[in-house]
Amino acid sequence: MNLHEYQSKAILQRYGVAIPRGYVAETLEQAKEVIAKLSADTGSEKCVVKAQIHAGGRGKGGGVKLASNSTEALQRATDILGMQLITPQTGAQGKKVNKLLIEENVYQPGATEPKEYYMSILLDRAKGCNLIMASAEGGMNIEEVAESHPEKIVKEWIDPRVGLQDFQARKVAFALGLEGQAFKEAITFIKALYKAYMEADASMFEINPLLKTSDNRILAADAKVNLDDNALYRHADLLAMRDLNEEDPLEVEAKDSDLNYVKLDGNVGCMVNGAGLAMATMDIIKISGGEPANFLDVGGGANAKTVEAGFRIILKDPNVKAILINIFGGIVRCDRVANGVVEAYKAIGDIQIPIIVRLQGTNAAEGAKIIDESGLKVFSAVTLKEAADRVKQVIN
Ligand code: GDP
Ligand code: MN
Repeated sequence: MNLHEYQSKAILQRYGVAIPRGYVAETLEQAKEVIAKLSADTGSEKCVVKAQIHAGGRGKGGGVKLASNSTEALQRATDILGMQLITPQTGAQGKKVNKLLIEENVYQPGATEPKEYYMSILLDRAKGCNLIMASAEGGMNIEEVAESHPEKIVKEWIDPRVGLQDFQARKVAFALGLEGQAFKEAITFIKALYKAYMEADASMFEINPLLKTSDNRILAADAKVNLDDNALYRHADLLAMRDLNEEDPLEVEAKDSDLNYVKLDGNVGCMVNGAGLAMATMDIIKISGGEPANFLDVGGGANAKTVEAGFRIILKDPNVKAILINIFGGIVRCDRVANGVVEAYKAIGDIQIPIIVRLQGTNAAEGAKIIDESGLKVFSAVTLKEAADRVKQVIN
């Protein structure tokens, strides 16, 4: 589950990770109050107005704006709130901004200029370790740094059985070239960040920029937290942060029906049991000249109800020109699935597109017979080749 910046920062704050002062606003009235409250807190009207959407690159898309006084801040808030923000990560249609984070400007120039660093913690599955990545070249172009100067990103692996050791935190802070008070603050920062990452059961924390202010404080100027969905059951408070506005409505509906669904851009919908078979099925669709419209794993117990839920979700996608159902009847019998397909088809009614059903495994022949004799616009296939040929026929 993804979180907004302001939510990510609220988690950081609980663990003593330093963040700028700021408040959230969902309306312009709230923005006005928040701007006044912030300037009372900080003794300065200078602030930064930040769009809250589940996508990065907001700075590049015009979703992060500075203001030098309260009037300007309200103007910025008016510009950004409700806008369709397009960033390198949103796709061409962009994302609507429903919330703002209004923060103090911590980039005050001084004796030494503020400097942007990068820091993240994530799970390295291959090593079975948590990984801290950091770079002195933080800011908006970190992807380019990773691409062309990978040596500028330092990596420190943490064995989850022993946890983050002091020497590791020092090593990272040293690698960033920090000294004196900033070095000390960075160590406190890294330790607190790691603790927050562990206790939230996160899969990623990304702080970019990690800021060294002109008075040598270390702060998280931006924060992006990704939580492990499988652990959310033990974090009711974090689960409550879920923002359905930011998720694909079809994916939300699928999650509610316990279906593993990822929306894609193609024209052939598919419904499969098992992730591996789903991947193979998407390959077949591609080989047949189509493009998969989705990934959909109905899991082990494909019955009339799950099939119907899957159907309904796929049919809501206007790009879908055909549906390929590919079920291996291991624990679930093919005749049961076939009956499920027919029942679901009738329950939905008015399906305008061809459905191809490939059933293999226990009672495959009985399953095919049920499909063929249903009198519906449903075609059966036994081999993968047959299924692929059918797809080719119906999309051309
Ligand atoms: P992102 O583009 O979605 O990652 O959003 P960020 O929160 O990282 O903001 C983008 C950029 O805006 C940062 O890299 C900073 O350069 C700048 N920025 C963010 N907060 C402040 C601030 O308080 N003051 C100033 N001057 N710049 C800021
Ligand atoms: Mn950022």
